[in-house]
Amino acid sequence: MKSFGLILWVWAILMLPVQSWAVNVKAIRISDTAEKSRIVFELNRAVGYTIFRMHKPERVVIDMKHAHLLKGAIHADFSSMIIKRVRHGMHKGVLRVVIDVNHKNLPLRSFLLKKMHGKPDRLVIDLLRKKSNYKINVVNKHSHQLVIAVDAGHGGQDPGAIGSHGLQEKKVTLAIAKKLVAMINQQKGVRAILTRKNDYFVPLRKRVRLARQANADIMISIHVDAVKKRSVKGSSVYTLAERGATADKVAIALASKENSADKMVGIHHQHFEIADPMLRNILGDMAKRDSLNSSQILAENIIESLKSLGNIKYDAPKRARFVVLGALEIPSVLVEVDFISNPRQERKLRTSSYQRQIAKAIFQGSQHFLQRMGMLVKTHDKKAS
Ligand SMILES: [Zn+2]
Repeated sequence: MKSFGLILWVWAILMLPVQSWAVNVKAIRISDTAEKSRIVFELNRAVGYTIFRMHKPERVVIDMKHAHLLKGAIHADFSSMIIKRVRHGMHKGVLRVVIDVNHKNLPLRSFLLKKMHGKPDRLVIDLLRKKSNYKINVVNKHSHQLVIAVDAGHGGQDPGAIGSHGLQEKKVTLAIAKKLVAMINQQKGVRAILTRKNDYFVPLRKRVRLARQANADIMISIHVDAVKKRSVKGSSVYTLAERGATADKVAIALASKENSADKMVGIHHQHFEIADPMLRNILGDMAKRDSLNSSQILAENIIESLKSLGNIKYDAPKRARFVVLGALEIPSVLVEVDFISNPRQERKLRTSSYQRQIAKAIFQGSQHFLQRMGMLVKTHDKKAS
């Protein structure tokens, strides 16, 4: 038995690089029904992907990491009401498939299907036919109104970080959250909920529960950062790290600091377990992967708009295991808004004009995300971006 174990072990090591890198796209199939055009990528295993739109000409772009398109995978002889052409190319080590479409901003959805019933792993993309009079087109499981959960960090006996002039993180997070909620609620078809409405304590897991109960489509948690070095400034955006993800010391330290909020009332998260058994059974890896992927895109969109404020510390989203990002089926991000430990930034963070600027940047980032994912259709189309 011992030598068998060793053989297995050696085999596992030999197989690992192949298994974890190569994704083969064996076929791309296109079919139309009354309500949608569907593109199916047949794969040899699940793929990490991002999907977005580009304009002039109208197209949907899918980037797949470490993927190769096998010869003959694209069949040119398809007929579709929506899809004109499928192109592909390699772009910085990523397989990019471009789908030329003849309609603008069609609502779209994408998901991964696991190998089953003799069918291979698949990536499915649906382009839904637009109903002309619908202002908001929701490709969502729950309702016809999008829900954004806004989470103001800390509260009550937990002040969060405190600046050298006494400003408390919990006050800033609530002020920004309220401004963000007001902006969201001004828009038709989108509704915001707050996980705390005032200065009281809410455990981290309860915040996650509240977002789930509200059937939130996305969740944005707001915090303010603090470090010893007083000159540090700028915002950063975090998503949930999967178990075994590459360690980033700064991110780990930050997550453990934010997770410790609950210790104030005796709740401990040493055994923070991402694998939610109920969720695993109901939705499986598919929804989880989809949502982690979406979280990344949401984070990138928020970073983009914070950048235009000149207020960003890291150009790319960072990952860590924040308890509050534990709703795996909901694309969730945590924004660390600037540094309260920087006296100059502390002064700015106190002002409602700066709070509003930040809220607006987060708002715009989330809108771009919803539009990009096809969940929110722009009603007044400005010039194509
Ligand atoms: Zn915090």
